[in-house]
Amino acid sequence: MEMDIRQLLIDKTTQVVRGSPGNLVMADIAQVPEAADMQIYDAPILGFGSADDALFDDFKQAGVIGPHHLSPRQWMPEGQSLISFFLPFTQQVRTANRRDYTWPAWEWMHARIEGQAFIAELTTFLVEAIKDMGHQAMAPLLDSRFHQGSAPGTEANDKYNSNWSERHCAYVCGLGTFGLSRGLITEKGMAGRFGSVITTLPLQATARPYTTFDAYCTRCGACIPHCPPDAISLEHGKDQAKCGAFVAGTLAAHRPYYGCGKCQVAVPCESKIPKARQPQ
Ligand code: SF4
Ligand code: SF4
Repeated sequence: MEMDIRQLLIDKTTQVVRGSPGNLVMADIAQVPEAADMQIYDAPILGFGSADDALFDDFKQAGVIGPHHLSPRQWMPEGQSLISFFLPFTQQVRTANRRDYTWPAWEWMHARIEGQAFIAELTTFLVEAIKDMGHQAMAPLLDSRFHQGSAPGTEANDKYNSNWSERHCAYVCGLGTFGLSRGLITEKGMAGRFGSVITTLPLQATARPYTTFDAYCTRCGACIPHCPPDAISLEHGKDQAKCGAFVAGTLAAHRPYYGCGKCQVAVPCESKIPKARQPQ
């Protein structure tokens, strides 16, 4: 029975992604002709998790995310289950961002802004669909308590973290593991966006096919030379401050548009889990 509900949610979500005009960049707002009527996302993948997963305690540790990260039960005390989805960017979005490694493509920035509006639309749809089944549901992204960046009293190194991490929720729900560039590598790769819902609906958790946070990253280093501000290194991973400053520069130039994502394209983890290198 539970499996049927999970499949129903997957089918409904996929229908919305395939059929909604919100998944297109309308011609009248396209900043370049190539982006007119561009589809932003391909079909989603979904994972399910428990609201009581002990990993959420780990995320509160300084150096993981921090104490400002709220657990599912803090968002929704009666919540039982998590639904996490990943929407992979279409090939058009991904290939456009491979052209120039100094500045984000307009197609990518559209996918970042109109794509985020579509994440909100899809999340709202899921919440309402679950309520129609007689259960409660909420989405941290749409809650008034949600904030990006630092909360009062948080450590300085938390300032780039929000109080709900979609990628960490996706990790809990079995969707993927972190890469050197701090994106999450899923079976559909890293280039795309995540969303989530917390619900009272009892759902069987997806088995996590990994035990370490970076199991799918081969540390091939292909993302390192793509990064305009040299924010990624094998020794230190990603320098959030350097990345944030570069992305802020794109916002200053193109407000309300911004983005980068050079570390997510033309790399082995762009649209799949990379294969580990064979020993020489
Ligand atoms: S490009 Fe290579 S090193 Fe960078 S995140 Fe992907 S798999 Fe890891
Ligand atoms: S998003 Fe851009 S600036 Fe940030 S780590 Fe990736 S390539 Fe570098």
